[in-house]
Amino acid sequence: MPKKYQNYINGKWVDSSSGELYENRNPADNEDLIGEFPKSTARDVEAAINAAKQAFDSWRLVPAPKRGEILKKVGDILTERKETIAREMTREMGKVLAETRGDVQEGIDTAYYAASEGRRLFGYNAPSELPNKMNLSFRMPVGVAGVITPWNFPMAIPTWKIFPALVCGNTVVFKPATDTPKTATTLVEILIEAGIPEGVINLVHGSGRVVGNAIVSSPDIDLISFTGSTEVGIDISEKASKTLKRVSLELGGKNAVIIMDDANLELALEGVLWGAFGTTGQRCTATSRLILHEKIHDIFVKLLVDKATKLNVGNGLDPTTDMGPCINSAQRDVVDSYVKIGLEEGAKLVCGGEKLTTGRHSKGWFYSPTIFTNVTPEMRIAREEIFGPVLSVIKVKDLDEAIKVQNNTTYGLSSSIYTNNINDAFKAIRDIKAGITYVNGPTIGAEAHMPFGGVKQTGNGHREGGWTVYDFFTEWKTVYIDFSGKLQKAQIDNN
Ligand code: NAD
Repeated sequence: MPKKYQNYINGKWVDSSSGELYENRNPADNEDLIGEFPKSTARDVEAAINAAKQAFDSWRLVPAPKRGEILKKVGDILTERKETIAREMTREMGKVLAETRGDVQEGIDTAYYAASEGRRLFGYNAPSELPNKMNLSFRMPVGVAGVITPWNFPMAIPTWKIFPALVCGNTVVFKPATDTPKTATTLVEILIEAGIPEGVINLVHGSGRVVGNAIVSSPDIDLISFTGSTEVGIDISEKASKTLKRVSLELGGKNAVIIMDDANLELALEGVLWGAFGTTGQRCTATSRLILHEKIHDIFVKLLVDKATKLNVGNGLDPTTDMGPCINSAQRDVVDSYVKIGLEEGAKLVCGGEKLTTGRHSKGWFYSPTIFTNVTPEMRIAREEIFGPVLSVIKVKDLDEAIKVQNNTTYGLSSSIYTNNINDAFKAIRDIKAGITYVNGPTIGAEAHMPFGGVKQTGNGHREGGWTVYDFFTEWKTVYIDFSGKLQKAQIDNN
């Protein structure tokens, strides 16, 4: 019998009010049933929000350094169980073990950062314009945070949101992606074990349409932190505006690597393979466009195709595997449909382009590493997020054209340039319209203590990671203390 999992509401593990469950299966082996998870309802969400609202009254008064100490413990437990969690995550999500270990490590780094932030949470103070008066400003928690996350970083992304939310004194209603509910459950179990009081963290499994929508529409949710597709992000933004919620959106990407003719091609080759096919291309920062200087185009494509065709696609738990499966059947169909679109648009398929369905691949959602050349910037495969192992190669004549092509997208998350010319590197840093630019590194590799996010349709101006996310999870309180013993009027008495 498969294990049946529950929601966590107001300090208790409970079934959904619907009594219904859905199956969570291994994307590398769909005969492997991981467990059954609740199909929750709006009623479950309401119960979770009520619990979070009530718990906020006391949690906000716990000193931030004490809240941070709990997060320190969370980091310690994650460290102790890193290997087990990584293995479970590979089974649930498919990416190779080295990557799921990295995913847990990002949670550990975020926990320790949050723990230390409990002793900072700095405010800005400035002198008063009047005598015998003091001005202060400090951070207050916002209230109940709705946290809605995708499946591609099942541990790291929830921790980026939940840990700072908690350290700042907010309470949380957490809705993870339906494809990765097990890792989300593990995270909540660890938070409970570390000492997070009842009602402060609540977990509600289920669909975006029902559970996500109920969170977004509730007047009792004070802020939403969402990572996912641009389409859903826009929908959330519209709905949340009706109750004037604060909303942080981390959305899609169409990230490109530029390789100039003076670049170290071996270094660039490693970076492109990692950026395009790591996590099976299912990263918001994945390299999905490759902009090659015409002088190195042919040689680089040859080297790349040679390596890409040799990548070992398989079960991520097998140490010889380079690339795991797509997350589910529907996502693999999306990838396949984009390959057809690319062919119809006139791009040249030089590698892959097919579902892998036989032998050791027969039970999972595998797709071959795919490369298109002869891609023009206007083609859909050069503009739309595919979220799979498909790389579109565009040839350019110089840096100006490369940057123009790079910026020819509605997204603006990550970007990269390989060059040994310092002037070109700085020009690219200045002119590429993206939240992140790597020099001589691939488009992936964010570190937990640096601002993370994008411009244009990748987001709405907020940043996760590092100290920047603490702005999102706090309200400013400004305090004026007049110890003059008389009425002093700002802007009037200081002339
Ligand atoms: P998705 O938008 O389909 O779902 C994300 C989450 O939102 C899930 O939990 C889902 O159940 C929920 N959801 C869906 N519809 C909803 C609705 N109407 N109301 C409320 N919640 C709803 O995205 P996905 O397929 O899980 O993830 C892939 C996408 O996430 C890609 O576009 C990728 O680029 C993006 N992503 C962005 C970042 C970033 O930091 N910029 C990081 C990772 C993934």
